[in-house]
Amino acid sequence: MSDQVDNKEMHISGAAACPGIVIGNTSLYQRVRPNISDTQISDDEAEEHIRRFYEALGAAEEELRMLLENPDLEDTTPFIQTQIAILKDPELHDRVEQEISANNKPVDSAVESIFRNYLQIIQKNHGGTFQNKSVDISDIRDRLLQILHNKRDEIKEGTILVARELSPREIISFSNRNIKGLITDQGGTTSHAAIIARSMNIPTVVGTQKATKVINCDDEVVLDGRNGEVVVHPEKETRKKYRSLIDQQSQREADYKLLCKKPNKTSDGKPFSLQANVEFTEELSIANEYRAEGVGLLRTESIYLSGKGFKNIDRQVSFYTSILELTAPHSVTVRLFDVGGDKFFEDEHKEQNPFLGWRGIRMLLEQPELLKNQLRAIYKTSGNFEGRIRLLVPMVSTIDEVQKLKTIIKKVQQELISEGISIDEKVPIGLMVEVPSVALKADLFATNADFLSIGTNDLTQYVLAVDRGNERIANLYDQRHPAIWQLIKEVAEAGKRNNVPVSVCGELASDPIAACCLMGLGIDTLSMNSVVLPSVKQMLRSNSYPDMQQLAKKVLQAETLNDIDKLFSNWETKK
Ligand code: PEP
Ligand code: MG
Repeated sequence: MSDQVDNKEMHISGAAACPGIVIGNTSLYQRVRPNISDTQISDDEAEEHIRRFYEALGAAEEELRMLLENPDLEDTTPFIQTQIAILKDPELHDRVEQEISANNKPVDSAVESIFRNYLQIIQKNHGGTFQNKSVDISDIRDRLLQILHNKRDEIKEGTILVARELSPREIISFSNRNIKGLITDQGGTTSHAAIIARSMNIPTVVGTQKATKVINCDDEVVLDGRNGEVVVHPEKETRKKYRSLIDQQSQREADYKLLCKKPNKTSDGKPFSLQANVEFTEELSIANEYRAEGVGLLRTESIYLSGKGFKNIDRQVSFYTSILELTAPHSVTVRLFDVGGDKFFEDEHKEQNPFLGWRGIRMLLEQPELLKNQLRAIYKTSGNFEGRIRLLVPMVSTIDEVQKLKTIIKKVQQELISEGISIDEKVPIGLMVEVPSVALKADLFATNADFLSIGTNDLTQYVLAVDRGNERIANLYDQRHPAIWQLIKEVAEAGKRNNVPVSVCGELASDPIAACCLMGLGIDTLSMNSVVLPSVKQMLRSNSYPDMQQLAKKVLQAETLNDIDKLFSNWETKK
């Protein structure tokens, strides 16, 4: 329900998660998890509720069959067929009927409780490997509940979407719906969802606290993703101001294209390399347009989270192949599945402290089939792209994990070779530096790796003990904190001592002044969201290496964030 009584211009603000200004009309997106009735029905009502159950089953099957007819969704056929089979399962029918007639539950409550029971049984029987099955089951449950409550999402193409919060999977699912912008009540700028929005170049404002309360469906809004501003019902003058900013934005984009053709060198000629953080092939058009020198971080979670095909090695091979083909002749750093943290999307998988939990390499080492399949797919691909693939390990916290992984890698390589498959045996194996233990023992980890890649998004949350997705403490989450710079310096020096290249792929690298400071610390390879490549390049090209070293020295001496903010703004104004 809206608090608003008239159409007066109103400003709300949140955190800027993806730059870009758009003006448009809104759609309200509700994660459709209707409230389940908690009443009891009388015996006389049971028949009607059973009839509604079968009606909902029929409607759900019809919807799924329509999806089957869509040639664009060919890949999802097995997934949809599994769901249709679940709908037709006589045991499901009997159990829901029983729940309604014997336990006097209303139809929605009966459906919810039988599916909850299924999910519990699967979890018990399959332990950690139940992800794929449970996705089918909870998807079909949600579809049935939506039908029973007559609540469907009403996203109109070309609109600006307003939601309480969005999961990475939801944002991925909007990719073919031409969404102009995103506004959420919750979430921080480095949550995985925000990163995905950025990588898809959708102007986004997160953490407004109240957007869904004050914005209605079809309201006109201006979304300014540069500074997290949203103007609801803009007046004529406001609209005019933003239209002119949109024109400037287009001009800037044209200038960027020219800039990107220039060499990657500081004003005094020191070379640097800028790469792209990528998750989908669709992102490569921006990365290539802005001349990224390859992919410094290929996030592979979407293969996993799409709930289909992650076991299918050929499908993975074709994904990696298309990324490599589209980025030739540069290298592609493929990160192993970093699932866990905020990268699960189903309630059933929630842990109390997911960011301190079962994620990344911890989870992979306990999922041998999943890990081996991904390694097989990566090494199979490597044979056709010799010298271009690098492998990156997420969420490492102990050397033991690295050694275990290397043993598994050796085995996978031997298996492939004995099957006559050609592979690149020299794929470099790198470690993410995102857990403080790794940064603190950087020499040790460097001697066990071919390269190190600093993930400042997680490193910051673990060093500062601030959940990166929690907007309530978003003011405490700042990657420019003096403690982070100190650790980055230690890692950069350990890399030099051990002759192991160090790069940064966390969001800190996308801040142009921070990029100068990283360069000043001797880190000359940075990987970032493609949208920010030109602004980082511009800043690096217009400053000299000695100035950057000087900046880094001062940053390391700074005691507070405030001091660092001042150094950065002085740097900005000295231009
Ligand atoms: C990081 O933690 O900095 C990083 C790049 O990984 P992700 O954001 O995917 O956790
Ligand atoms: Mg990380």
